[in-house]
Amino acid sequence: MTTDPVCYAPVDEDKAQYTSHYKGQEYCFCSGFCKRKFDENPKRYARTARSVDIGSDITC
Ligand SMILES: [Zn+2]
Repeated sequence: MTTDPVCYAPVDEDKAQYTSHYKGQEYCFCSGFCKRKFDENPKRYARTARSVDIGSDITC
């Protein structure tokens, strides 16, 4: 299980339909919407991928 770097939803990387590669790392997304957000600005989301803010209310 990994985390969608855009909205922080848990994503099963084995079943993820939306993935992107950035700097040798694979990122999985819950939806095409989140993948598009990431592709538009991967730097922003790749940097925050490790610090999951559970308290945030961002959904997609
Ligand atoms: Zn998402």
